[in-house]
Amino acid sequence: MKPIRVRFAPSPTGALHIGGIRTALYNYLFAKKSGGSFLLRIEDTDQTRYVPGAEEYIIEALHWVGLIPDEGPGFGGEYGPYRQSERSAIYKEYAEKLIQDGHAYYAFDTAEEIEAMKARLQQDPSDSIKYDYNTRMSMKNSLTLSSDEVESMISSGQPYTIRMKIPADEVVHFYDTIREEVSLHTAELDDKVLIKSDGLPTYHMANVIDDRLMKITHVIRGEEWLSSTAHHVLLYRFFGWESEMPEFSHLPLILKPSGNGKLSKRDGAQFGFPVFPLDWKDEKTGDLFLGFREQGFLPEALLNFMALLGWNSGTEKEIFSLDELIQYFSKDKIGKSSSRFDYDKAKWFNQQYIQNTEDTTLAKYVIQDALKQGQKLTDEQAISIIKLYKDRSIFLTDFFKQGKYLISDIAEVDQDFKSKKWKQEWTDSYLELANTIEQSDEFTKEKLEEILKAFMAKYTYKMGEVLPSLRVMMSGIPMGPDIYAMILTLSKAVFVKRIRENIIKLNK
Ligand code: GLU
Repeated sequence: MKPIRVRFAPSPTGALHIGGIRTALYNYLFAKKSGGSFLLRIEDTDQTRYVPGAEEYIIEALHWVGLIPDEGPGFGGEYGPYRQSERSAIYKEYAEKLIQDGHAYYAFDTAEEIEAMKARLQQDPSDSIKYDYNTRMSMKNSLTLSSDEVESMISSGQPYTIRMKIPADEVVHFYDTIREEVSLHTAELDDKVLIKSDGLPTYHMANVIDDRLMKITHVIRGEEWLSSTAHHVLLYRFFGWESEMPEFSHLPLILKPSGNGKLSKRDGAQFGFPVFPLDWKDEKTGDLFLGFREQGFLPEALLNFMALLGWNSGTEKEIFSLDELIQYFSKDKIGKSSSRFDYDKAKWFNQQYIQNTEDTTLAKYVIQDALKQGQKLTDEQAISIIKLYKDRSIFLTDFFKQGKYLISDIAEVDQDFKSKKWKQEWTDSYLELANTIEQSDEFTKEKLEEILKAFMAKYTYKMGEVLPSLRVMMSGIPMGPDIYAMILTLSKAVFVKRIRENIIKLNK
């Protein structure tokens, strides 16, 4: 059996959408499961759509989620270059071979002439409006011009494209492991441009040649490429590679949370969740798109969530490490129907992963997050925040947000609590409480319980009044974890100081 080789082949036309991460993941899992290779190929032949920084973004995102290619730009490998813009000479040669064999032709039509053809065809709605076997004989190409004319046009530097010559009236069949039998009549297929007037290949040409030269055995990609596959199948035939065509699997779409339509990059902004793995700034529009990383997701949680968006293990199990995903993954368990992007489920996964991650590992993230906000935390400080807030954090960014009062004084108290719950006449009793705690020689949970009990009894305060008040004095907000855990994490001196200082803020 041939060694399994799969590729993830994004075009650097912008940030990698979360669907791209799923495609990369399924390719990776399939490769690793079978001891095969996972390649990264950058499909950058469309100069007009090239976005600076997009390739670096893709690579950083793959690193972040831990899907490290075995081969690819910057990753080594024997089948490079892995960036299509560095392979132009290869494609040219193959295109010429297709012309010689009568499967492709030179086309000299200008953009205006093509537009005119379309306008002409539009008059008659029964005809397809495309450059195809019905229309090509009325256009300016090497099928209609004499070879002398063609030669002189090429040598005089006339711009030209090379188009694929789609056979007339036939049905192209291929098998897709998810869609099963797929067939398309050639009447639906246009004579696709293979080499553009800038000399660079189109996606179709470069993709097929590279899959062949890089010995790709299985193509796993998004459903949007299904309709192009008929062209690809014909190219394999034209080149005489049909018997060694890769196996195709086109992954169903990821839908908006509502289930209506495909998840788009704009949905993130609209619904308030990330659709990109990392933050991305669109330089043209200035729009900033939020990333899962910056939102505070653990990469493992994101992968686990994405894995189950279209695939199921056939078991009840939901939490899978990457190694387990490799172990359980199988292409036949990829569903046919589209999956709804359920952000609440993504959050649930992240919460589960936070619960199950070692404090020392979480500490690295919390320290980084604090640093971004200008606060340097020691390992001990980070761990004490984690211990208090592990049960109450959905995102990694929730830790420092909730626990920063443990490190530095609070800037303000909750306004709602201040105006609706706090009573100024309580002030003296709380100052007395601060003194009692300060003078107590023990600072333990038992002692604090005893002091608070006596305090409530003396002033006939309710628990529901005292606990929120103390929480506000410590952290600024009336909610939080176990009161004793909070007080003991702060230390006696700080707790007492916070009561004294923040009562002033409550009374202002
Ligand atoms: N360059 C295509 C993309 O951006 C790759 C499609 C394929 O995998 O063949 O998605």
